[in-house]
Amino acid sequence: MTVAKDSFVAPKEHFSRASHVRSLEDYQRLYRQSLEAPEAFWGVQAQRLTWFHPPDSVREMNAEQVDFSWFGGGKLNVAYNCVDRHARERPGKTAILWAKNEPGEYQAITFRELQHHVGRMANVLKAHGVRKGDRVCVYLPMIPELAYTMLACARIGAVHSVVFAGFSAESLRERILDSGAKVLVTANEGPRGPKSVPTKAIADEAVEGLTQVTSVLVAQRTPREVPMVEGRDFWLNAEMARHRGVCPAEWMDAEDPLFILYTSGSTGKPKGVLHTTGGYLVYAATTHHYVFDVRPDDIHFCTADLGWVTGHSYLLYGPLANGTTTVLFESTPSYPDAGRLWKVVDDVKATVLYTAPTALRALIKEGDAWVKKSSRKSLRLLGSVGEPINPEVWRWYHDVVGEGRCPVVDTWWQTETGGILISPLPGATPCKPGSATLPFFGVEPVLMDDEGRVIEGNGVSGNLCLARSWPGQARTLYGHHQRFVETYYSRFPHLYFTGDGCRRDEDGYYWITGRVDDVLNVSGHRLGTAEVESALVAHEAVAEAAVVGFPHDIKGTGVCAFVTVKPDWLETSTEQMVGALKEQVRHVIGPIATPDRVVVVNGLPKTRSGKILRRMLRKIASGETESLGDTTTLADPAVLDELLEKSLPLR
Ligand code: ATP
Ligand code: MG
Repeated sequence: MTVAKDSFVAPKEHFSRASHVRSLEDYQRLYRQSLEAPEAFWGVQAQRLTWFHPPDSVREMNAEQVDFSWFGGGKLNVAYNCVDRHARERPGKTAILWAKNEPGEYQAITFRELQHHVGRMANVLKAHGVRKGDRVCVYLPMIPELAYTMLACARIGAVHSVVFAGFSAESLRERILDSGAKVLVTANEGPRGPKSVPTKAIADEAVEGLTQVTSVLVAQRTPREVPMVEGRDFWLNAEMARHRGVCPAEWMDAEDPLFILYTSGSTGKPKGVLHTTGGYLVYAATTHHYVFDVRPDDIHFCTADLGWVTGHSYLLYGPLANGTTTVLFESTPSYPDAGRLWKVVDDVKATVLYTAPTALRALIKEGDAWVKKSSRKSLRLLGSVGEPINPEVWRWYHDVVGEGRCPVVDTWWQTETGGILISPLPGATPCKPGSATLPFFGVEPVLMDDEGRVIEGNGVSGNLCLARSWPGQARTLYGHHQRFVETYYSRFPHLYFTGDGCRRDEDGYYWITGRVDDVLNVSGHRLGTAEVESALVAHEAVAEAAVVGFPHDIKGTGVCAFVTVKPDWLETSTEQMVGALKEQVRHVIGPIATPDRVVVVNGLPKTRSGKILRRMLRKIASGETESLGDTTTLADPAVLDELLEKSLPLR
């Protein structure tokens, strides 16, 4: 493993020739400048946006209060930046390319059309009493109205809180209460793959008896009739038709809130992360520009749902701020078959594909034939986000999907960071499969030991922290500033603590080793979950792996691996498989990491955004099945039954 994962993959010459940053030396020079003179650096980046009034200062902060301000005194509007200025300069250019649930069905929305729709939607919100600073909860499938609503909120200065339209009524209600939203925007239903999410029925249950919510606006995605509550529920399409497409853009302070977004809940109760206007948009636009090496004719295909931060920053705000055509994909990579993603890529001629390791692992499992029968010649760049990408999966993405032509950017960041913090720049950074490589401009990672000391030098591991503020950073947890301070700024004073463990290798490259809460301490050795999982995934039979610790009499912590196997290997006896996988880890990492138990299952528990829920597996492996914690973030509750059944002998 060490041999394979540490070998460099050089930037592709044909790519570097035209890229914004063309060599490692250029990156290093710019990076140094960004740290030495942050005000100058970010002052220049801020000019990507159109400001109604320029900022008076770049950066101000009060470390004691954990209070950050970027571009103070600046006035701007996010919708104006993402829509109006492009509608004026390139009205006929496609802003949003909607790929509907059914294969082959597309709708292009130009910047001019987008401006009209957003204006109408903004007027509808106003007519329903929404004012600057009010919160609007959005529970919509991946339809254009979702983008219109987010941009309309931005236009009038309302704060959107988008809740992924796969969440239960209970989760939605909790988020509506926490954000204090007065208007809820939903749809009659949301087709997704072979199924349809009854969004309106779920929304009804969520707002039952809540006087706080005065209007429910219902987009009509399909002809299906749904019960409407007189005086509370309104058909969105009819409301929009009644209003003008012209609505003035509110002059917002750079530090006015733009949105609230709840984290995935991988580690516990979701947190209502608050992002503000100027810093967020400057950061989303700048990172989108450099990391995806934007070109004017790009078709940017980010497969994330708009209900996640990846959707916010790299499906909507980043690309549209830069005037890029962005793809809004309503379906799933497996509908109607495992060739769907490649069909969309070919149909829309996507130049950039940005997806998650969980999707890639699912596709690998289905075999290469699905990929190979598509053309993919439009693609020039591939991105990954959400979880550590196993080196084996990285190679598949690079070799099979990208045919060795397209650079791969493994981007590490969080809901709280607003945008990408660690990533290669595609024309400049030599990659190592499995490493997110080097920090973005202005970002200063610091590794801390458990005693709160800085770990200097290379070839070291520790708690990943960030030493200085960056424009896209979350300012608070909505209504809970103390929790914000405690969660991110108290473990290591004056440093932002990410919660992730990280290794900085001999070359200064960063490797996310997993959540620090999940780190295994086996006989005094610290093992990251990602390392052991990647060793397992490197075995040809394994589709996915999740590794957790459990109390062990002798070692302190034992290693328990949950794995799913590829279809061709389902016939292999469990005993054989378990033996082979223990041997695999012993061989790749060493005897210390050899799993004490290997459990072969049909599915792993995941959040609705596709991340493995190790905290749940840890409880199961430890026999603490009575206290599994918050199970509402679980995407498929059925996997739990199998896990509990198969894990019974473990106890
Ligand atoms: P919660 O904070 O509620 O537990 P979450 O951390 O899963 O949920 P997100 O903000 O969606 O919520 O995810 C950010 C986390 O995802 C990171 O802290 C990291 O653990 C993981 N992650 C994201 N991108 C990468 C990447 N490229 N490599 C490794 N890990 C990644
Ligand atoms: Mg997190």
